[in-house]
Amino acid sequence: MKTFKNIFDFQLHFNTEEKCREYLEQQRWGNTPACPCCGSTNVKRFATNNRIFKCREKECRSKFSVTVGTIYENTKIPLTKWFLATYILSVHSKGISSLQLATWLGVTQKTAWHLNHRIREMLSLNAPELLDGIVECDETYVGGSESNKHAYKRIVRGGAGNKAMVLGAVERGGNVKVRVIDKTNAQNVVPVIKEFVAPDTIMVTDEHTAYNKLHLDYTHKRVNHRDKEYVRKEDILVHTNSIEGYWNILKKQINGIHHFVSPKHLQRYCDESAFRYNHRKALQDERFANALANCEGTLKWKRLTAK
Ligand SMILES: [Zn+2]
Repeated sequence: MKTFKNIFDFQLHFNTEEKCREYLEQQRWGNTPACPCCGSTNVKRFATNNRIFKCREKECRSKFSVTVGTIYENTKIPLTKWFLATYILSVHSKGISSLQLATWLGVTQKTAWHLNHRIREMLSLNAPELLDGIVECDETYVGGSESNKHAYKRIVRGGAGNKAMVLGAVERGGNVKVRVIDKTNAQNVVPVIKEFVAPDTIMVTDEHTAYNKLHLDYTHKRVNHRDKEYVRKEDILVHTNSIEGYWNILKKQINGIHHFVSPKHLQRYCDESAFRYNHRKALQDERFANALANCEGTLKWKRLTAK
């Protein structure tokens, strides 16, 4: 793995298409390139144009480069700009707006918006393991004051002030997982929790009724916010301070940087924020490599802009 500690180092490493491509090949395949069409490793690199490989399987014979089957496929944007945008989004503490990214990269705002969203998609696959140990779970509303927004942009969704609802679970000292949900009733909340949290984990929530049946799958402890109880000392400290700390980070990011996030894209913004939280102890080069590890999978412009 290439090591870099800051943006200056980063740009020395990745200042040509060649260097970016080499790194991507290494990250994606190691020393055994594989055909993205049939999966075979029986492939050869062209001597004349060394970006291109050819599959030797009789049935396949595909020609491909390392970007085929990744978010970089068929892109007109140079890899150097993709890499820099990925770096910025994976290490910047609060993320940046498309407008700011456009200025930094010297691309149009539309291109920057597209980069932003495609990279966010990469960041969404950041914590595959189930949460374990002591897990705090809570729900919150996300979105700024609705009254100041144009009517067509207002978030139409049930709940306080028509803001969107997000459910989050954080393992103390570990990862966070977040999901945009429609309603905070047990039918919506419990299946997501089971998807996020390993069985028999110690779960801490507040008194919300949606959590009433968590004791069936978990050791469930509750803190009674309504009675102004915030911490209770038992065999563990019963509180939801970790998830509330994460909500502060998420809201600062969304309200401070993006000002407005439509519900359709909210999950990606949440994923981006969760990626950074889950890599808070990781070094810059590690964060970048982990982000890039998810580059397989394309997010087409059409799907992004679809209603
Ligand atoms: Zn093949």
